[in-house]
Amino acid sequence: MRLLLVEDDHLLADGLMSQLEKAGFRVDWARTAREAISLGVQEDYRAVVLDLGLPDGNGLEVLKKWRGHQIGFPVLILTARGDWQDKVGGLKAGADDYLAKPFQMEELVARLNAIIRRSEGRVESTLKSGRFELDENRQILKMTDGNEHTLTGTEFRLLRCLMSRPGQVFSKEQLMEQLYSLNDTPNENVIEAYIRRLRKLVGTDSILTRRGQGYLFNEVV
Ligand code: CA
Repeated sequence: MRLLLVEDDHLLADGLMSQLEKAGFRVDWARTAREAISLGVQEDYRAVVLDLGLPDGNGLEVLKKWRGHQIGFPVLILTARGDWQDKVGGLKAGADDYLAKPFQMEELVARLNAIIRRSEGRVESTLKSGRFELDENRQILKMTDGNEHTLTGTEFRLLRCLMSRPGQVFSKEQLMEQLYSLNDTPNENVIEAYIRRLRKLVGTDSILTRRGQGYLFNEVV
């Protein structure tokens, strides 16, 4: 799942990025309002963490620009502790949640997963599709026979992407975008290799290939 982190504090951003990647996100980092606006408009993010105090402007203006472009990804804003005006302003500008600094990493991840679930119309922290269930907290795939498989970070992100929209065809390019951040330069063959690995777990009927288009998760097997 691709996520945009907008934060001008390098130290905080470094720490956040490594923790968020451990939690299964692929993170792009924007340091300025200007960079944040253009990345948000161009790239396909599943969620955004937005700091309000940026060197070249206020995060609220960034959020208003995105919403003005009809960009609906869920946004969690980071506010200074006790600054209720920021919280209210953020929610009015279209934020989905907020967190006051300093915060615990676990809380940030839990809140992010919650706003992503809501944006997908789900209420539970497991993603069910067909005979399978993905446990987002433990990055585990559960089968109907009760067996569980621990997934690697990339396997989890790829399967999560496919299972979150069963029946929808994802091109290799779209999958790469969800799996890798802008700094990585992976090869498209990597996707094929991971699809093969996932098919060994879920069966070849569950992940179908649409020639020349991409892959889709088939929940009616
Ligand atoms: Ca700041």
